[in-house]
Amino acid sequence: MKYKELAEFYEAASSTPKRLEKTEILVKFLKKIASSGKELDRDVLYLLLGDIYPEYDERRIGISTQIAIKAISKATGINETNVLHEWKVLGDLGKVAKALTAKRKQSTLHTGVLTTEKVLENLRKLPELIGKGTVGKKLDLITELLSSASPVEALYLIRTLIGDLRIGLKESTVRDAMAKAFFSENKEAPKKIQDIIDKSNDLASVFNIVKDGKIDEFEKIHLEIGKPIKAMLAQKAKNIKEAFESVGKPAAIEYKYDGFRLIIHKKGDKVIFFTRRLENVTKQFPEVVSYVQKYVKGDSFILDSEAVGFNKKTKEYMPFQDISQRIRRKYHIEKLQEELPVEINVFDILYYNGKSLLKEPFEKRTALIKKIVKNNPYKIIHAKQIITSDEVAAERFYKQALKDRQEGIMFKNLQARYQPGSRVGHMLKVKPEERDLDLVITGGEYGTGKRGGWLSSFILSCKAGKLKDEFLEIGKFGTGIKEKSTEESKIGISFHELTEKLRPYFLEEKGKSVKIKPKIVVSVTYQEIQKSINYNSGFALRFPRFTALRPDKHPTEAATLDEVKKDFENQKRNWRYG
Ligand code: ATP
Repeated sequence: MKYKELAEFYEAASSTPKRLEKTEILVKFLKKIASSGKELDRDVLYLLLGDIYPEYDERRIGISTQIAIKAISKATGINETNVLHEWKVLGDLGKVAKALTAKRKQSTLHTGVLTTEKVLENLRKLPELIGKGTVGKKLDLITELLSSASPVEALYLIRTLIGDLRIGLKESTVRDAMAKAFFSENKEAPKKIQDIIDKSNDLASVFNIVKDGKIDEFEKIHLEIGKPIKAMLAQKAKNIKEAFESVGKPAAIEYKYDGFRLIIHKKGDKVIFFTRRLENVTKQFPEVVSYVQKYVKGDSFILDSEAVGFNKKTKEYMPFQDISQRIRRKYHIEKLQEELPVEINVFDILYYNGKSLLKEPFEKRTALIKKIVKNNPYKIIHAKQIITSDEVAAERFYKQALKDRQEGIMFKNLQARYQPGSRVGHMLKVKPEERDLDLVITGGEYGTGKRGGWLSSFILSCKAGKLKDEFLEIGKFGTGIKEKSTEESKIGISFHELTEKLRPYFLEEKGKSVKIKPKIVVSVTYQEIQKSINYNSGFALRFPRFTALRPDKHPTEAATLDEVKKDFENQKRNWRYG
């Protein structure tokens, strides 16, 4: 397909803020790809959301704004200082590429026709170029594309490269458009399409099946060992009574461990771990590979678990924030593994010896765990569980979980199936009411004096809605961050470290203020939520305090405006009734 057609689609989609209109525009585009009949065109589905591979694939374009600036300069013959100047004026590198390409076009005659295949071919070479001395090669690949691009094509090429497409399209819009384009009469279609998206995390494969309009064919998408699946998520219940009402009696009740989700795949000798963000973190947990090999029976399986940190000496469990760096760190793994050991608590199984268990009732899945996982405390164990109809027993179990320093308890319906990617009503969490939120950093301000050079305050945003791609500001924080680098103490994060973490996502700098792409999720506690006209969410957090980075969470999993409103209402209710 000509890249021009894709660029025209991007233009049309970004011309309207309305989701329904965007969906309609996408419906037409998807029908066009389907009717082209070309196998290669299906990969355009990745480009639609600014990717080059399926979501489960770890290879990302990963080009810094600095390289993008160099490439614009090289392709247009305008020196870097002038490109930088244009960036300051226009605030968007894509627009800079468009404007400067237009200038170049007037002076040179260029007749290159860019295709999506060529764009993908060059972009896919970028992640393979690692290490010193590769910048030149990267530049060549990008410049080649930019040199044959029209101004509009250059705009979207640059935005794709820096990972900021700005067309307001997300996976759920693609899902709805697929349903409309190929199953116009079937109300069940969006849900069924979502199911196979969550199972495969590969929009192009999903498109390939969906485009023929046959729902029975969906069964063709199977779980595959080594390919990550989205984890099933829980809803919240107010208390034990409400939890029983939702999941029925008897229910399985388990500890809600305060760790991080680890989905374990094994086939033969090969063991792979994924986080809930579908990141492969196998290298970070060599000791867990050996626990899985030694203590779990079976040739092939996918287990769902929570990894919890514990103190080596006292054997007391530690909160998530104290071990979160085990997910992040890629170096000195042995040392970290010594200092911050984890215990794996297995609570579900999705696949066993060649067979998917997604449709099997939880009762059966949990029984299988007990058969195949050999309990080895402080290494790998079955999640603590009781099966009961008794509220008093549940209350006792809840108290014990909190005493053991865990977050609370999970209620699970014994007959329910495993639904990847869904926040289901048959798995409910009960935990003490506390005021904390997971939010995204979308801006910051440079500090002065000893904090000069680093951001010293950070703007927090929530998601505008469950299905909305937009983020709304809700407060600023600077507390909870350390002055000095944390190499010695290992725990927490410094201003310097957080700034460096955010820097690749800087979108715009004006004076001391920086706009940042919503990428980094953090947990914050706060004293109170107030209504406010200072932030576009309409709310402000009072005294937000950083507690942890959430590398395991995707920005789309940040708290939504509705959740903020709910917490606001709840806090009012709590005050009223003491
Ligand atoms: P929270 O911020 O309250 O931890 P969350 O958004 O991280 O919630 P939820 O879906 O609300 O995630 O809660 C489920 C999470 O709890 C799972 O992702 C998993 O990491 C963790 N968890 C701990 N113990 C269990 C368990 N026994 N069964 C299922 N999930 C568990």
